[in-house]
Amino acid sequence: MCTHRYLFASLCLLLMVSSCQKEAIEEPQTNNLGAENLLMGNPSNAKPNVNQPENYLITRPQYTLAYNRSRGTANWASWYLSKKWLGEIDRQDNFRPDESLPSGWYRVITSDYTNSGFDRGHQCPSGDRTITAGDNSQTFLMTNIIPQAPNHNQGPWAQMEAYSRKLAREGNELYIIMGNYGTGGIGSGGYKEKLANGKITVPKYIWKVILILPEGEEDLRRVNSSTRVIAVNMINRQDVSGLHWSDFRTTVDDIETETGLDLLSALPVSVQVALESKKDTGPIN
Ligand code: MN
Ligand code: MN
Repeated sequence: MCTHRYLFASLCLLLMVSSCQKEAIEEPQTNNLGAENLLMGNPSNAKPNVNQPENYLITRPQYTLAYNRSRGTANWASWYLSKKWLGEIDRQDNFRPDESLPSGWYRVITSDYTNSGFDRGHQCPSGDRTITAGDNSQTFLMTNIIPQAPNHNQGPWAQMEAYSRKLAREGNELYIIMGNYGTGGIGSGGYKEKLANGKITVPKYIWKVILILPEGEEDLRRVNSSTRVIAVNMINRQDVSGLHWSDFRTTVDDIETETGLDLLSALPVSVQVALESKKDTGPIN
C-alpha cells in the first residue's frame, strides 16, 4: 500500500513537471521578454518589497524599474530593444495611475503634471513598444513617467530615442537603462523642485546608458571590452533645446559616481572596468 501510494505520488509529480515544461515551451514569446529587460543587471538590487519603498522593483514584460515612493518617480528603468518590439501600433496616449503599487502608496495621476511646465516624460518610450496595443499601453503607466523639461524631452532626448530605434531596425539588440537624480529642473514655467504639492520630485539630471550588440544569441556572453556603450547625462532644463544628445556623452563610471548605482553589474568585472571608463565616440544619427 505504502509502495503504491509512493509510486502514485511520483507519477503525479512526473506528470506535473512534464506538463509544466510543455506549457513553458508553448507560452507566447512576449511572456519571455521580461527577463531581457534586466539582463545587464539590477543596478540598485531593487526588490518587490514594500519595506524598501525607495527602491521598489516593478517588473513587466515591457520594462523593469525601481520605483521611489518618496520621489513619486522611478530611480531607474531598464529595458531591451530590438526589431521584435517594433511594429505599427499607434501611440495609445492612455496615461494612468499604476494600480499595481502596494496599497496605501500614493499613485501619481495624470493631472499631477497638468500645467506644471514639465512633460510627462517616458522612461521606456512609447515608440519602443509598438508591436501590440497592450504593450504600448503599459508605457503610459505613471510609474514609467518622470517630469521632463519639454525642450529636453522633445529635443535631444527624443533624438536619442529615435537613434536607438534606428540601431534596432538596422539589426542591433540594445540594452537600455535610464534614470534620474537630484532635485530641481527648469520647465516652461521656470524652476521647480516639486509637483503635486510635493508628491513628485523634479529631477535635476536625467541619464541613459545604451549597450549595443549586433543581433545574435547568448547576449551576456558576447559582451566584451569593445562592445559599444553610449552613456549620456543631461541636465533637466529648457535651454538644452539647441543641443544634440551627443553633446552630453559621458562615461558609465561618471554616472555610477553621481548616483551610487552599479550599472552593467551582470558583466564580468574586467569587462565593466573596460566599458565603463570609455566615452563613446561613435556615430550619432
Ligand atoms: Mn519622451
Ligand atoms: Mn558597473
